[in-house]
Amino acid sequence: MKRIGDIVLIQLSDIDSNIYLAGDTVIDCGTGFNFTRLRDIFNALKIEMKDVKHVINTHGHFDHIGGNGYFLNAKVAIHEADAKVLEKGDRKLSNVDFFDGNLHPKKPDRILKEGDKLSPDKLDLEVIHTPGHSPGSICLYDKKRRILFTGDTVFSDGVGRTDLPGGDPQALEKSLQRLLKLDVEKILPGHGEPVLKNAKKTLETVVKG
Ligand SMILES: [Zn+2]
Repeated sequence: MKRIGDIVLIQLSDIDSNIYLAGDTVIDCGTGFNFTRLRDIFNALKIEMKDVKHVINTHGHFDHIGGNGYFLNAKVAIHEADAKVLEKGDRKLSNVDFFDGNLHPKKPDRILKEGDKLSPDKLDLEVIHTPGHSPGSICLYDKKRRILFTGDTVFSDGVGRTDLPGGDPQALEKSLQRLLKLDVEKILPGHGEPVLKNAKKTLETVVKG
């Protein structure tokens, strides 16, 4: 567990996505395999999991969505191009078999589009549609705080893979070029360590190779 200003970063295991908690909102939920650990962390934070009101999925891969159901009272939001993965419990597009997991079909509560605004406690997020890693991958940008949640589109040490079902290298390249134009201090990625300073420079290094 790591505090980044008002945001808490929770890392459960190597296969779980990073889970970010900001007030009553969670960004990505991990596989759901490590529920006890997640509950213990929430207990330590003195936050009830049932009090989480919003879950935002950066895309429809199992390691980001598998744990959605543990937030019993949360409304789940995902980009329109990955929404059917949740709705149908799509085994191929979610890569659930790679994780040997279970995926129950569930209709998302909110369908996100480019430019949508989300306001969890203490954050002002704009949805940036960044296809490539998956068709409905999004980044979430807080312009005022210069924070970018990147899901699996870009990490502190590389860019997202495009060889999974729904991946598209050309789309990813376009998405990365868009991200390069943003004024960013911090990158909070879907896996690995966050970038807490000079993230624009990291983006340039990582994208240009
Ligand atoms: Zn992914």
